[in-house]
This record gives sequence, C-alpha cells and structure tokens, in this order.
Amino acid sequence: MTDELSMEPLRAPTGTHDLMPGDSARWVALLGVFAALAEKSGFGLIHTPLFEDVRLFRRGVGTETEVVGKEMYEFTDRGGRAMALRPEGTASVVRAFIQHHPIPPFRAWYATPTFRYERPQAGRYRQHHQVGVEVLGIADADVDVEVLALANDYLQGLGLSGYTLRLNSLGDAACRPQYVASLREYLTANQGSLCEEHKGKISANPLRILDCKDERCRSVSVGAPTMSEALCEQCAEHFARVKAGLDAQNISYFLDAKLVRGLDYYTRTTFEVTLDLGEGELTILGGGRYDGLVEVLGGVPTPGIGFGSGIERVLLACDRQDVFAIQPTVPMVYIVDTTDGAHARDLVASLRKEGLIAERAYGNRSMKSQFKTADRSGARFALVIGDREAADGTITIRDLRGGGEQVVVARDALLTSLLELAAKN
Ligand SMILES: [Zn+2]
Ligand SMILES: [Zn+2]
Repeated sequence: MTDELSMEPLRAPTGTHDLMPGDSARWVALLGVFAALAEKSGFGLIHTPLFEDVRLFRRGVGTETEVVGKEMYEFTDRGGRAMALRPEGTASVVRAFIQHHPIPPFRAWYATPTFRYERPQAGRYRQHHQVGVEVLGIADADVDVEVLALANDYLQGLGLSGYTLRLNSLGDAACRPQYVASLREYLTANQGSLCEEHKGKISANPLRILDCKDERCRSVSVGAPTMSEALCEQCAEHFARVKAGLDAQNISYFLDAKLVRGLDYYTRTTFEVTLDLGEGELTILGGGRYDGLVEVLGGVPTPGIGFGSGIERVLLACDRQDVFAIQPTVPMVYIVDTTDGAHARDLVASLRKEGLIAERAYGNRSMKSQFKTADRSGARFALVIGDREAADGTITIRDLRGGGEQVVVARDALLTSLLELAAKN
C-alpha cells in the first residue's frame, strides 16, 4: 500500500476542488458583500463544527430527503460515535441555539462548506460552500420580508439580475394536514398516471410528488389542489403580509404553488431563487420558515426562518451574466534593492504599516531580474534603492505603467510623493 501511494501523485479527492490565490479574490469579495449586508441587518457570524452527531441531521433535515437518505458523509469516529459531515447549514445553527439558549431574537449568518456524496458532474461538488442566515424567535411576517430583502440585496450586490424569486406558503399544523389529505385523495384518484417511483408511494409523502421532475408526475400535478387555496386564516394573513412587504420594497416574486418542502417542520413562507441559464434553471438560493424545527431538535418551540445560497452556483451565475469579475489584488509598490536587501526589508515593513500593498525581491538578485519580477507582480511603482540612494537617503520611484517615468525623492517624502503620483492618473 505504501509503495502504491508513493507512486500515485496525490490529488484533491474526487468531487472537490482547490480554491487558489488569484481565483479566491472573488470569494473574498463575495464574502465581504454578504458579511457587510448581514452585519448591517443585525446578524452576527456563527461558526459551528463541520461534523455533528448524525442524529442532528437525521432529525433536522430528515431521513426521507435525498441529501440525508442517500448523500450524507457518515462515519464512525475512533470512539465509536456515529458522526456526519454537515450536509446543509440550518440544523447546526439551530442545535447551537438550543445548546446556548441566547435571548431571542437570535440572528446569525454563516459561510461554510457543506458535504454531499453526489455523483460528480459539472457544477456538483462533494464539498461545496454556502453563505446563509437564520433568525430564531420571531414569528412576525415582517421578518420574512427582511430575510427576503437581504437575499435580494445580496444577489443585486453581486450585480446579478433577471433571477426569479419563487414564493409559496406551506401553511402550518392547523391547515396543512387537511391540505395533505385532499392532495392524497387527488393523487390516489390519479395514481395510474404517476411515475414508476411514485405510483406506490403516495401515502409516505404526497407533497414530494409535486416536486417530482418526471413528466407524468408533473402533468398530474398541474390539476392538483394547492396549499395557497387551503391556508387557514392566520396563515393567509401571514402570507398576505409577506407579499405586501415585498410589494412595498418593489421586490418582485412569482407565486409558485409547486414549491414545497416535504417535512412537517417547514411552515408558511418558503422560497427559492432561480436563474434561467439557457440550459435549465439554476437554483442559487433557497430557504423559508421552519417554525417546528427547534422543537423537533429538542428545544422550546421557537419560530425560525432563514436561507442558504451556494457560492459556486452564484459565481457560475455571475460568470454567465458577466458580472462580479473581481481582479486579484496587485501590489502598489515593488521594492528593488540592489544593496544587501536590508532597505527592502525595512521599507516593506513600514509601507505595509501605512496600509500600502508592498512587495520586494529576495536573495540579492540582479537589478534586471528584480525588475522582471516587479513587472510580473503587476505593481504600479518600483521603488529602487541602489548604492547612490542608500548613500543619499533617497529612493527612486519608477512608474511601471506607461512611459516608465522616474523621480528621486527623499526617504521621508516617499509616502506623499507616492500618493501624489498615484493620484495623477
Ligand atoms: Zn414522480
Ligand atoms: Zn395555517
């Protein structure tokens, strides 16, 4: 085994990818956009373990879901405990809320990898990444609007447009059971027309069938009763308030009666943001209310709402729309020191303290070779220190763009001169 390993070049595991400096500039910028919006809206960063007791996800996401039933990374640790890598963002936040009982309302944002053992294919990773928010302790429909507005501001902040916010209400414990019963009745009457998988599985979870991608199920779904027609008075009021709030902020939405989540603790407002990229709809964000989840996970009944959004998918959408093209940071100055490098050492330190992005050459290389790296670095200016500058206490500033103009300045006038030169063009 050891020999075999030493022959094979080591690579990132199938379905994962390395995010390298340069490419990561967009991630840094995206996280900056998201964090700024979330913090401004009263959310604080939460960071929970990447692995948890497997029961958290079985209960909190549901064993019937594909992600937990078929795709979760599960393992037994050395102590014999059944663990799983996080398949999604919400369950861990709710677990932490229950464990630490902060005074509600509780608002948290996160940026995290999530893991799904999927068949690798374009745009599907076994480790992908999400940003998201959760609000716990507020049942008011106005907070649904705040969360949706934050989602919208985030996507707009990246420059995305033309996406569709799909909105639905799933009702609650008072009105959903009745709806599910009438849906089951309808589907049973049309059982023969459903797909192979669903012909025999109606009673387990009739809502799932509305979400089935098979043509046969889809055509049966068209005539199915919808949840929005069956909402109780409180749920209907809640939904009306959400829509009014979105209207007031000019956030457009599409009422999608087929937008369902099969588990009982998902309640009322549910939403997805999709984008048509020509080769099918790409879901770039999804979320909703989960007023029953805290209780399911062993906490005091507490309403909750949130969303998650896949970073890779959002950046794919940005690529297709040619927006949010962030250039990697380049240094402002590159120090070329042809004495013994001590000037470069000290100058880099002091310029960085001043907030400038400064780089230097190492290892006493020739002036020519140092200039080559300076050019490659993309720096705006080269700061040259040779024997003459060292003796005079000066620095030669050379503009690396355009005509290569240079000026000699006194050491203590360096910063002012740099800022002046940079402001010139
Ligand atoms: Zn089906
Ligand atoms: Zn209701």
